[in-house]
Amino acid sequence: MRNFFVDPANLDESIAVLIGQEARHIDSVLRLGPGDRINLFDGTGMIYEVIIEEVVKTQIKTRILKTRPVRLDGPRIYLGQGLLKGKKMDFIVRKATELGVNGLMPFVSSHCTVRRVPETRETRWHRISLESCKQCGRPYPLKCMPVTDFNALISASEDFQMKIIFWEKEDIRTLEKVFSGNSTIKSVIFLVGPEGGFSKEEIERAASTGYEVVSLGKRILRAETASFAAMAILQYITGNLSRAQV
Ligand code: SAH
Repeated sequence: MRNFFVDPANLDESIAVLIGQEARHIDSVLRLGPGDRINLFDGTGMIYEVIIEEVVKTQIKTRILKTRPVRLDGPRIYLGQGLLKGKKMDFIVRKATELGVNGLMPFVSSHCTVRRVPETRETRWHRISLESCKQCGRPYPLKCMPVTDFNALISASEDFQMKIIFWEKEDIRTLEKVFSGNSTIKSVIFLVGPEGGFSKEEIERAASTGYEVVSLGKRILRAETASFAAMAILQYITGNLSRAQV
């Protein structure tokens, strides 16, 4: 069944109303109409199976048949990303959403050239993630946390079962090694530095609080390449690319 987003403001116990782009897509592009069933996501983790009742101009009224929460049964995967320049953070948000990463914790570290972002940036990332959800059929957005600093992030990540920091100067530990014998991990946080990388002190501080320092191979990757590669590999290792997630 087709999936669409509904604004929680347009939902009550039995009726869900679709407007704007979603409504136009359903009516003019897909030519769906009264009697057709579709799934709606509200972006907070609920799924509604609905039947279209009425199409009036750009407004589609549907009746809710079933409601259920999204099953989040895979491990929780969080990306700690050093702030990147220009539009790169937007790309990270899109790719992390598509690849099923659960949360993004952006941070400022000693080699970041971007040290602050406007407050509206977090709302923008949330909106970008919702757009990606629509495109890829993911029922809840990436949880974008407020920008923090490196030390605060290290302290805030205590609860994760597996903690990884990627460092281009590490030459022994690989993801394969740190996960061997750890197939039932429930939560992972992985940190990728900004364009300027991590300082040696930052790596040491992370390692002293239980972070595994891990290599992504002998080539130095751009920060965004390192993030995408790590997301895909971690999702593969933890089984999140094969499990039905909706
Ligand atoms: N400024 C550094 C490179 C930073 S790359 C230099 O030019 O030497 C940006 C981030 O990507 C790093 O902080 C690290 O987290 C990650 N990264 C890039 N290549 C990597 C590799 N081969 N192994 C592990 N992490 C890597």
